Amino acid sequence: MRTRTGTGTDLGTGAGTGTGTDLGAGAGGGARRRSLDTEAVHAGRDDLARQGLHAPPIDLSTTYPSYDSRAEAARIDAFATDGAEPDGPPVYGRLGNPTVARFETALARLEGTQSAVAFASGMAALSAVLLVRGAMGLRHVVAVRPLYGCSDHLLTAGLLGSEVTWVDPAGIADALRPDTGLVLVESPANPTLAELDLRAIAHSCGSVPLLADNTFATPVLQRPAEQGARLVLHSATKYLGGHGDVMAGVVACDEEFAGRLRQVRFATGGVLHPLAGYLLLRGLSTLPVRVRAASATAAELVRRLAADPRVARVHYPRLGGAMVAFEVHGDPHEVIAGVRLVTPAVSLGSVDTLIQHPASISHRIVAAGDRRGSGVGDRLLRLSVGLEDVEDLWQDLDAALGARRPR
Ligand SMILES: *Cc1c(COP(=O)(O)O)cnc(C)c1O
Repeated sequence: MRTRTGTGTDLGTGAGTGTGTDLGAGAGGGARRRSLDTEAVHAGRDDLARQGLHAPPIDLSTTYPSYDSRAEAARIDAFATDGAEPDGPPVYGRLGNPTVARFETALARLEGTQSAVAFASGMAALSAVLLVRGAMGLRHVVAVRPLYGCSDHLLTAGLLGSEVTWVDPAGIADALRPDTGLVLVESPANPTLAELDLRAIAHSCGSVPLLADNTFATPVLQRPAEQGARLVLHSATKYLGGHGDVMAGVVACDEEFAGRLRQVRFATGGVLHPLAGYLLLRGLSTLPVRVRAASATAAELVRRLAADPRVARVHYPRLGGAMVAFEVHGDPHEVIAGVRLVTPAVSLGSVDTLIQHPASISHRIVAAGDRRGSGVGDRLLRLSVGLEDVEDLWQDLDAALGARRPR
């Protein structure tokens, strides 16, 4: 396990700095690239002022009229060849949607990839990746635990015909086979916040695509493509949407893989609703501010939890972030039953603070032995820190933790 006991002294660099994140020099070596903060509010909106618009329009069309069916046939042929987004109108909603495309453009910009493809949920996004590789005869997946419970389940149950080998990071290279289509990792991982060296892992993958689930870190704290991940996956349901009211997934990647993902999305139908695309684009504009503010509060809660005798262990990434995990000496179910301001609910990344018991909920579907073996203990609680005042949150957690027992 690469988790560490939070001491409250070494809280990484991500939290609460309030400074902009430089996205690096432009590809041509000339113009300086805009910072992440600026991209978050402008990317995907470049054409609006020219159109005399401020808020992006929501295009709810399911179909797009055309009097030129020869041209439509050519656009469909082009899509069937390489999955390129059709020039001009999208033909039909399952081929693409202009409002969703704005979100995809913006997320690709933030993750530093050529493209991004959005889906109806994080699980739909992961399914599409597995289908792309499986259709090429590359059904074997190498993965590192822990993963989000349902990602683990999808692989373990082989629901999409894949076969998984679970390894430690050091075992990745040896586990690769001629039919290995994907290496799958999460860092920081759900729910233990274990961190991986993505650059080293990308190196051990050789030519096999590395998929890094970046849901917990967000591009504000970490851009896995810069470290060699070919695919960056988000449950956009979490921080990207940010308000607990949109379910979505997205894969940021190179344009070649994006084309395959669009073809799978077209054929299997896991499309994102345009209203969700609108809400996600709006969510991105406050992402850097939300992540930094919540991370600063999380860092303070980590200090207090780590010093509390009712808490056995605190997990917090060196990277920072707004997710905290901690193990209690007492009954974790009593903590869940005791919160009043904090919401006892699965999911994460919203403006309000959520707490849940992974062994009961988010990771229930993982067999108990596998769950415990990957560090998800029965006394572990996962806290998604929101934007409330830290003193109000601490008061609620302090009460929910129960009487201070002498040790
Ligand atoms: C929630 C989650 C998922 C699944 O996303 P959905 O949008 O719920 O389908 C995948 N990975 C991680 C790390 C998650 O937290």
